[in-house]
Amino acid sequence: MVYKAEYIWIDGTEPTARLRSKTKIVKDDVSHGDLPIWGFDGSSTNQAPGDNSDCVLKPVAVFPDPIRGGDDVLVMCEVLLIDMTPHPTNTRAATAAIAEKYADQETWFGIEQEYTFFKDGRPLGFPVNGYPAPQGFYYCGVGADEVFGRDVVEAHLEACIEAGIEISGINAEVMPGQWEFQVGPAGPVEVGDHLWMARWLLYRIAEEFGITATVDPKPVKGDWNGAGCHTNVSTKDMRENYDAIIAACEALGSKAEEHVKAYGAGIEDRLTGAHETAPWTEFSYGVSNRGASVRIPWQVAVDKKGYIEDRRPNANMDPYVVAGLITNTICSAAAGS
Ligand code: ADP
Ligand code: MN
Ligand code: MN
Ligand code: MN
Repeated sequence: MVYKAEYIWIDGTEPTARLRSKTKIVKDDVSHGDLPIWGFDGSSTNQAPGDNSDCVLKPVAVFPDPIRGGDDVLVMCEVLLIDMTPHPTNTRAATAAIAEKYADQETWFGIEQEYTFFKDGRPLGFPVNGYPAPQGFYYCGVGADEVFGRDVVEAHLEACIEAGIEISGINAEVMPGQWEFQVGPAGPVEVGDHLWMARWLLYRIAEEFGITATVDPKPVKGDWNGAGCHTNVSTKDMRENYDAIIAACEALGSKAEEHVKAYGAGIEDRLTGAHETAPWTEFSYGVSNRGASVRIPWQVAVDKKGYIEDRRPNANMDPYVVAGLITNTICSAAAGS
């Protein structure tokens, strides 16, 4: 007999990479841990020229497939060149090296993925002409006049749980058709594997409903919140003492420009200083402050230990890049190197 393995990878689309996948039929004497490398046409994904188009898919994380069921699996892959070195678009490999270097600091990430449903060219819940009532009641709302797409959201949540994704919650967001799910806490590489897989499941499940989901950071211009990917982080030291919390905020502040540049295309349009954001040109941190770049949750200030929330990353950010960079910045400062 055979089973189906959906090989999923991140392409070379610029400025924001997209997910691709294709199905491999595998003999069932091949265990899920022994799935082979595979290839694809990189000239169709902006990853290779047409006259030298082969790229390699290397399985790195395997999840039970909640859509097909049975023995079928979803396979997160790294993209390699044919000499088996990481492809330039492969952001996971560098993060794995950083995670290994600072493994002793035990970095954890919890990422809040905001996204927006679209149907017929407008956000789900927006009227055919004009705009819905202004923001105010949609966030964590209930009722057919306040939330749109809950059936898709529930199906996605269930699929993530069945796939073994470290999903930790969901909520309706401030704009109609806008939602959030959270992944983590998990290590820097694992959180990326799980978040990318949760994104793939979101697009795939919304497809069943004839709806598209987008991580566009500013899906509607004007007085509507953008979509972010708040990134919560802690090290073992931060989970034990407050000095390490403050040191982490200072470390992030010392490399603010480098971080903002890596936090997703179009970040200048979202981090305007309005709509619960800090302007992208300035760095600030503070307790409970949702207008700061980095927030120290009130409970953390009370307990004098815990984690911090970097509120800057865009919804379209690459979690491998963001988790790798934050790990490097916080851990290298703590290690004094
Ligand atoms: P918000 O109040 O900003 O909406 P959420 O509840 O949406 O916060 O998300 C908080 C995230 O922080 C969750 O993903 C959770 O797993 C994560 N988190 C909790 N504790 C830690 C920790 N010690 N280190 C890293 N992430 C954490
Ligand atoms: Mn949240
Ligand atoms: Mn949110
Ligand atoms: Mn948040």
